[in-house]
Amino acid sequence: MPIDATLPYDDANIFAKILRGEIPSRNVYEDEYALAFHDINPQAPIHILVIPKGRYVSWEDFSAKASDAEIAGFVRAVGQVARDNRLVEPGYRLLANIGGHGHQEVPHLHVHLFGGRQFYHMLA
Ligand code: 5GP
Repeated sequence: MPIDATLPYDDANIFAKILRGEIPSRNVYEDEYALAFHDINPQAPIHILVIPKGRYVSWEDFSAKASDAEIAGFVRAVGQVARDNRLVEPGYRLLANIGGHGHQEVPHLHVHLFGGRQFYHMLA
């Protein structure tokens, strides 16, 4: 079920548990601002999620409330993950689902990196 991205942050969400190390994840990158790990249900040969370490439900509160350092750190982490996983030269897809119409399911901001195959135009 998609979430209401205007709700307050829920510390019981699955990505909060991953950040706290309470459930396992296949991590590919971590720094002060971000964690990246393989999606549990990959939709492409490479499907990685990158999340900020701060308590942000969606792009909405992240863009409004995060510090410049957090925003820069997150954006740079996404770029580093793409480089580390050799996604840059062949190309890849970067996606964030926001709220109900975006069909966001996990209420902690995340971006999806999809790679390893050809994508066509935007999914319905
Ligand atoms: P959303 O629809 O919120 O943008 O996508 C949530 C993503 O999180 C989905 O692609 C889903 O497969 C992934 N996911 C949900 N639960 C887990 C989990 O426990 N571990 C990992 N690694 N990915 C998860």
